[in-house]
Amino acid sequence: MTAAPGAGSLVVANIGELVTNDPQLGVLHDAALCVVDGRVAWVGPRAAAPAADAALDAAGAAVLPGFVDSHAHLVFAGDRAAEFAARMAGEPYTGGGIRTTVAATRAAGDGELRATVGRLRREALRQGTTTVETKSGYGLTPADEARSLRLAGEVTAETTFLGAHVVPAEYAGRADDYVRLVCGEMLDAAAPYARWVDVFCERGAFDAEQSRAVLLAGKAHGLVPRVHANQLTAGPGVALAVELGAASADHCTHLSDSDVDALAGSATVATLLPGAEFSTRSPYPDARRLLAAGATVALATDCNPGSSYTSSMPFCVALAVREMRLTPAEAVWAATAGGAAALRRTDIGHLGIGARADLVVLDAPSHVYLAYRPGVPLIRTVLHNGVLVA
Ligand SMILES: [Zn+2]
Repeated sequence: MTAAPGAGSLVVANIGELVTNDPQLGVLHDAALCVVDGRVAWVGPRAAAPAADAALDAAGAAVLPGFVDSHAHLVFAGDRAAEFAARMAGEPYTGGGIRTTVAATRAAGDGELRATVGRLRREALRQGTTTVETKSGYGLTPADEARSLRLAGEVTAETTFLGAHVVPAEYAGRADDYVRLVCGEMLDAAAPYARWVDVFCERGAFDAEQSRAVLLAGKAHGLVPRVHANQLTAGPGVALAVELGAASADHCTHLSDSDVDALAGSATVATLLPGAEFSTRSPYPDARRLLAAGATVALATDCNPGSSYTSSMPFCVALAVREMRLTPAEAVWAATAGGAAALRRTDIGHLGIGARADLVVLDAPSHVYLAYRPGVPLIRTVLHNGVLVA
């Protein structure tokens, strides 16, 4: 029972609850959805479903758009389980462990990195993630950054140059020299493989002027900015993201009132990464404050071997509901349509007519179960471009 794009039509029948994220369609009950050529072609009452070449019986379960994970770091080698254990025993998180992963990544062959990226991409897909962004940032030389993005590009079109992740050990004390390398030779090597440019704007990483230089250099190469902003301190990252028209400001854990106002008055999405707070035992972002101000909020995993080694969007939805007081409906929206907004995509994150047929069938009657039954594998079926993939 599959329908390849261009190879016919598929009806998803007997849907108990259909979350479309489409303002006109809303949430439908006792519904059906028809896919033609990998796109949503029809949505309506179960009894009115048109005939199709193939059928998928949802058996009364909930159907949601596939998750859009707009922030992940999948290209790396090694792990940092010992660092995690030490942190859980009371050591603070500083971000300095990134250099451990840089050393392991530089030493790894293409085959090892490709295997890790592929494994994590499949792991995410099984958990309902139909679109994933992924960043470089563990190479930190022109050749290693270009390699990371080339390998990332084998699993996603949403690739982000993060040469300004941390100042590598060989540039210790010479951050401005490193920023010149990032803006020059490294960007020249990386830009052909990237859609986005990102920077870790944080005390101990890159300050406002260094971050601005990197983002402007990326823009000059045709890349669109996104920023690791305000994770550990209420720094300048969010203001800079809004100033430069970034698609997203990510983390947003420590925000001033003017940061919140700036996000609410801009097209820059506030992407919250509760897996990072969970894994570093840190206070969660104030999602309700952002929503009350009118900001667009996305949820993503921040999947990386140091501060958030989860690829699970359902886990992030559960955290957002339990720890950040989003309603289940708000959390599902943020994990789907919010992520699409953070990637400036209109073809994904919803199931309106014409959307890419990326959807999940839950092993549950309602989207609420994603938070109500945390840690339980509730993703029964995944369609990507209308094709059954998990
Ligand atoms: Zn990150």
